Amino acid sequence: MAHDPNCLFCKISEGSIPSQKVYEDEEIYAFKDINPAAPVHFLIIPRKHMPMLESAESQDAPLLGRMMELAPRLAKEQGCRPGKDGGFRLMVNNGADGGQEVFHLHLHVMGGPRPWNK
Ligand code: ADP
Repeated sequence: MAHDPNCLFCKISEGSIPSQKVYEDEEIYAFKDINPAAPVHFLIIPRKHMPMLESAESQDAPLLGRMMELAPRLAKEQGCRPGKDGGFRLMVNNGADGGQEVFHLHLHVMGGPRPWNK
């Protein structure tokens, strides 16, 4: 599996840098954001090192799909109200112009009672 020994999120995924785990399986790791921008704020990452969306290949599509599919379940477990009246925000900062600072693809999941997202 692609791994970059200098990548912060590779190190978090393998456990050599501590994090507050939200979920893990063979392909995916999720953990709380260290600097939350919302009452609920966690990151879903592929364990495989891919710097940004352009790094994904067509064979990665199911993995990216699973990351999206996990979001509502984990958001609910973390305290976001489910369904139409609740919900959460998903965000990918892709590239420097997109505000990306950590170059290991990640899905921000943000939620909780407003007005954090006004
Ligand atoms: P931005 O900082 O503009 O949101 P990114 O989309 O690259 O850029 O997001 C990186 C995220 O990783 C930030 O929200 C940041 O708070 C978070 N982060 C950085 N270091 C850690 C860490 N050690 N543990 C958990 N989250 C981290």
